[in-house]
Amino acid sequence: MVQLQRPAWVYFDGRIRPFEEAVLHISSEAVYRGLNVFEGVKGYWSHDGAGFNLVALARHYARLRESAKLLHIPVPWTFDEFERACQELLLVMVEPGRDMWVRATLYVVEGHWGVDTRADLTLIAYHQPMSAPTPISVGVSTWQRANDVTVPPRIKTSTNYQVARLARIEGRRQGHAEMILLNTAGRVAEFTGACVLMVRNGAVITPPPSEGALESITVDIVGELCASLGIDFIRRPVDRTELYICDELGEAGTLAELTPVISIDAYRLPDERPVLDEIQRRFFDAVRLIDPHPALQLSPVGLDVGR
Ligand code: PMP
Repeated sequence: MVQLQRPAWVYFDGRIRPFEEAVLHISSEAVYRGLNVFEGVKGYWSHDGAGFNLVALARHYARLRESAKLLHIPVPWTFDEFERACQELLLVMVEPGRDMWVRATLYVVEGHWGVDTRADLTLIAYHQPMSAPTPISVGVSTWQRANDVTVPPRIKTSTNYQVARLARIEGRRQGHAEMILLNTAGRVAEFTGACVLMVRNGAVITPPPSEGALESITVDIVGELCASLGIDFIRRPVDRTELYICDELGEAGTLAELTPVISIDAYRLPDERPVLDEIQRRFFDAVRLIDPHPALQLSPVGLDVGR
């Protein structure tokens, strides 16, 4: 998880600025109504320390635009401008031996109820350990993921994370590191900040976005890695009770990466996780450029930009 950090620099109002300068007015819709859309982007050092690469930046930009479109937030930044802003920040933030997680947010700074809406592109980058995630215990929350006609899960906006916060608080009291949210039909939607990967009979199964999961970039990557590894990959609705009897369970997300689950509620899962372990190994071999894979769509930081 991202530790609370106060990075020296952020990208705010069109350029790199000291952390303290990045403030929003209480009258802005960003603060007033929690109006924003955002992305979390991961950057990894290659295994030999020779290069630092961002994962699927174009896909993150595309999803940011889709979230903004659904909330009627104009996006006057082209992909090149977005990429240049990311590059500028990472060039001052990246340190040897530490990966990074970049949160790219469009905060609505002007406008009222959808009239004259104007957003600012802000970027904040956090240092991350280079170690692979360790197994966690999780629970199923009593809180539910909203559906497509209430707070659409497909929109990556902070307001969607109020229920995630409630679920995390609930889970912490029960000793769980993460919680699964069911949808309003009582089936599995997703974790509070990642998607569900369940293995049964050798196949990787994940609930589709119509069940209340975000259109996850990591899940798409996992699908492509599975195709290369000859592992069946299925998107279908998942019942809660399937989680308790499954062979393997894990989280998939940009920040969660591929995190194994050891227990869910009162149910212990098998100690061996051959399928998810294989996918995790292939994922890290790809992001570290030990064994590249096109699904990661890596783009280097510090090269070929601004020319
Ligand atoms: N669901 C939620 C609620 C998330 O916040 C995330 C993290 N962005 C995901 C799923 C996984 O999406 P991705 O793989 O694109 O990071």
